[in-house]
Amino acid sequence: MLIDWNYIQQEYQLILDELILSDPLKNWQVPPQALQATNHKTKYGMADRDGVVYINQAFIGTASTELLNVTIRHEFAHLCVGLQHGHDVIFKAKAREFKADFGKHLKLESEQVHESIGYKYLLFAKLENGDEILFRKVHRKNAKYLRYKAGRFRYLTIKGVKVMSFRYES
Ligand SMILES: [Zn+2]
Repeated sequence: MLIDWNYIQQEYQLILDELILSDPLKNWQVPPQALQATNHKTKYGMADRDGVVYINQAFIGTASTELLNVTIRHEFAHLCVGLQHGHDVIFKAKAREFKADFGKHLKLESEQVHESIGYKYLLFAKLENGDEILFRKVHRKNAKYLRYKAGRFRYLTIKGVKVMSFRYES
């Protein structure tokens, strides 16, 4: 499943609904007002003092759903404690409570999103079941995928399905 803007909006609302059950909006320093896309070059997301949460449009077309989830939680934690706290201990405690954990488990997803920022090529993967899916949006071609040949025992999988071949499209 690849992320589209509609998915980002749904996640935003679902997470907000969940968080305000334990932390009602009246306790938030800055109540969330809106969700907007950004094409920032490095940040996954941002929040401002008007209560706008910005999510990087580089998420769109990737499968980085966990990273998106954590990013939205992180921005909500900023709004809840107030932006003046930056990433201090008060913020960190709230981020933990909101389950905004950018752990090692998100490394692969982070790579996908970074590659998606200002990408040049689309990398498609042809799967054993006949599906062809958009695997990544990337800046440059990578020998790993150009030379890829699915072996009998050595091959890559996407969501458990064997990848037969890759191709780039600009
Ligand atoms: Zn932050």
